[in-house]
Amino acid sequence: MDNYKSGFVTLLGRPNVGKSTLLNKLIGEKITITSPVAQTTRNKLKGILSTKKGQIIFVDTPGVHKPHHLLGERLVHNAKSSIHGVDIVLLILDSNEIPGRGDKYIKDFLLANEKDYLVVLNKWDLVRKEMKNLRLNQYEEIFGKNKDFLLVSAINGDGCLKLIETVFEFLPRGPMLYEEDIICDQPINTLLSDLVREQVLKNTREEVPHSVAVNIEKIKEIKRNNGKEFTAILATIIVERMSQKGIIIGKKGSMLKNIGKSARSNMKNLIDGPIHLELFVKVVPNWRKKESKLVEFGYEEEF
Ligand code: GDP
Ligand code: MG
Repeated sequence: MDNYKSGFVTLLGRPNVGKSTLLNKLIGEKITITSPVAQTTRNKLKGILSTKKGQIIFVDTPGVHKPHHLLGERLVHNAKSSIHGVDIVLLILDSNEIPGRGDKYIKDFLLANEKDYLVVLNKWDLVRKEMKNLRLNQYEEIFGKNKDFLLVSAINGDGCLKLIETVFEFLPRGPMLYEEDIICDQPINTLLSDLVREQVLKNTREEVPHSVAVNIEKIKEIKRNNGKEFTAILATIIVERMSQKGIIIGKKGSMLKNIGKSARSNMKNLIDGPIHLELFVKVVPNWRKKESKLVEFGYEEEF
């Protein structure tokens, strides 16, 4: 195993460019939540890819953006701090958008920190054929003619193998850092609560913004009389206002039912067995502004 490599790779980029979708694709399992709504990734999350060549530990981050409140500040802080100590940064961009000041901001930030980075032009599937050359030129204007661009579609997997090959070129020789079958560094509670939060965001869209947290109160393996086992999960959805609670519950509970149905189906795949999911909704006014609540709901400051 002389040539075995291992190292850390940060996925960095603005909200909604597809970092979490890409991480899921690269790992091959749904470990992080994705959403058409920006800022769904709140904590740093590591996804581990083990191949014969070595081990890549990908670090997913919240997008870099201007902070609007304490939670926002924390997102930016965590994203910025997550480039230190990693072997290479993947700067993920939405190639379906014309590059702009935000992209330059992150590039300058990486240069200032003397960090090696690869430019990943994600969502390449969305760029029309006749636009592709023009788009590449626009990106060259920001990153220079010598920069190679990795053209990727996180949705269908195009370009992902090449991306993995390229990342390995930048990794040092090193030992296996996680056991081969471990794909994620987060406890199962975090993954499960994220699957509920994902469905809240997907089902309610703009009406319930980012003031939602989910607490997993209980996980229990239960054996039926007929010998069959299932996992019972009790989760609380926390919102800031009574009106949001109403939206999440929906008419005669219909919204909560839909949220539960989709979340349960994703949980089933993650846990690989039948699930009984019970959901409650609770109002905690202004939880995002309270340090104690941020910690309680799992958003601790990272260094
Ligand atoms: P993040 O905020 O950077 O983590 O972005 P997400 O992974 O949550 O993705 C944001 C949205 O972009 C989701 O609706 C994804 O389905 C979509 N998306 C991500 N990658 C691609 C891609 O390669 N092609 C297309 N068409 N959509 C993508
Ligand atoms: Mg994300």
